[in-house]
Amino acid sequence: MKSFQINENGYYGNFGGTYIPEILHQNVEELRKSYKTIINDESFKKEFSRLLRDYVGRPSPLYLSEKLSKKHGCKIYLKREDLNHTGAHKINNAIGQVLLARRMGKKRILAETGAGQHGVATATVCALMGMECVVYMGKTDVERQKANVKKIKMLGAEVISVTSGNMTLKDATNEALREWCNNPTDTYYVIGSTVGPHPYPDMVARLQSVISEEIKRQLTEQEGRDYPDYLIACIGGGSNAAGSIYHYLDDERVKIVLAEAGGYGIETGKTAATIHLGKTGIIHGFKTLVMQDDNGQIIEPYSISAGLDYPGIGPMHANLAEKKRATVFAINDNEALKAAFELTRTEGIIPALESAHALGALNKMDFKPDDIVVLTVSGRGDKDLETYMKYSQDYTAE
Ligand SMILES: *Cc1c(COP(=O)(O)O)cnc(C)c1O
Repeated sequence: MKSFQINENGYYGNFGGTYIPEILHQNVEELRKSYKTIINDESFKKEFSRLLRDYVGRPSPLYLSEKLSKKHGCKIYLKREDLNHTGAHKINNAIGQVLLARRMGKKRILAETGAGQHGVATATVCALMGMECVVYMGKTDVERQKANVKKIKMLGAEVISVTSGNMTLKDATNEALREWCNNPTDTYYVIGSTVGPHPYPDMVARLQSVISEEIKRQLTEQEGRDYPDYLIACIGGGSNAAGSIYHYLDDERVKIVLAEAGGYGIETGKTAATIHLGKTGIIHGFKTLVMQDDNGQIIEPYSISAGLDYPGIGPMHANLAEKKRATVFAINDNEALKAAFELTRTEGIIPALESAHALGALNKMDFKPDDIVVLTVSGRGDKDLETYMKYSQDYTAE
C-alpha cells in the first residue's frame, strides 16, 4: 500500500527534513527525541484530552448543513472548529505544545502569528499555565487584526511588531526563529502550523489529529460509516487540514481537497497560491514548495486572509499534491468573500476568512447525490468583521 505518512528521517516524499542553524541543533534534536514519548505518555494524553474537553469544549460538532447540501446536491457536513475556545483549531496545538514544553522543563514560550489566532491561542494557554509568553507578529498583521492584538496583550503576553519584509507571517517567523537562536536553552518555540523543521510538522499534525478522530466517531453515529467521500479544508501552513485528514491519509476511498489562497488570482502576482506556483526550496527550516523567483528570493505572498498569507506550505501537503493524493484549488479573495456571505446568510455562521476559502472550493466541484462531504470550518469570523464590512455591499445586494 502507498503511504503518505512521514518517514523516519522526517520527510514526506521529497519534502520536510531539518534545515536549521547549528545553534538550534541541540534544541530541535532534544524535541525530536522526546516528542513522541511525551505525547504518547498516558498521563500526558489524559491531561491533554481533559483540557480539550473541559477547556476547549471538544468534541466540536459535526453539523449537517441542509442549505449547502441542497445547493450542491450531496450531503455536506461542517466540522465546527469555529466553536472552540478562542475561535479556531489553533488552541488544540497550543495546549499540546505548551504541555510538552512544561514537561521538558522550559519556562518561556515564543510564538509567531499571522491572523493572530495562534498568538491568542498560545497566550491563552500560557495564562492558564502561568508561563511567560512572547508573540511575534508582522506590523501589517498587527494593524489588520487589532482585536486579536488586544486580546494577546490582555492575556499578559508581549507582542513584538515585526517591520522587516512584507511585515506579515513569514517575517514574524524569521524573527521568532532568530530570537530562539538567542535563547536556545530556557525557551520553547510553539510553531502554529504544520511547518518548520522536523519534528514540528509531524508533532502539530498529531496534536490536531483529534479533529479526524472525532470525524470518524461522529460520521459513524450520523451516517453509519466512519469515512466521508470528500474532506475539504483550507491551507495556510496546513494544520487544520492535517488534523482533518490525519486518520484518512492512506484511505484512498476518501478524496482530499485543499484550498489555498489565490489572492487576486494566480496570474496576477498578488497571490499566496504556494502549491500552484511554488518550486522546491527551503524556508523556515524545512524543504517544501516555496513561492520564489529565479534567484531563489522569496516572493512576497498576498491574500485577503492573514492566516493564509504564507509563501510556503506544510511538507505533508506538498507531498500530497505532488503525488496527486490531494486536489488543490486556488480560491481568490472574491470567491472566498462570496462563500463567507453565503454561509452567513443561509446558515447563520460567520466563518473566518481562511475557512471561507474551503467553502469557496465547493463551487468548483461536482458531487453525486450520495456523496458525503466533510468541510472543516477552521475558525470563526469575529476577527474579520472589519474586512467583511468593507465588502458587504458587493456581496449582499439582491
Ligand atoms: C491560522 C488559521 C488557518 C491557517 O492555518 P493552517 O495551519 O493552515 O490551518 C486557517 N483558519 C484559521 C481560522 C486560522 O486561524
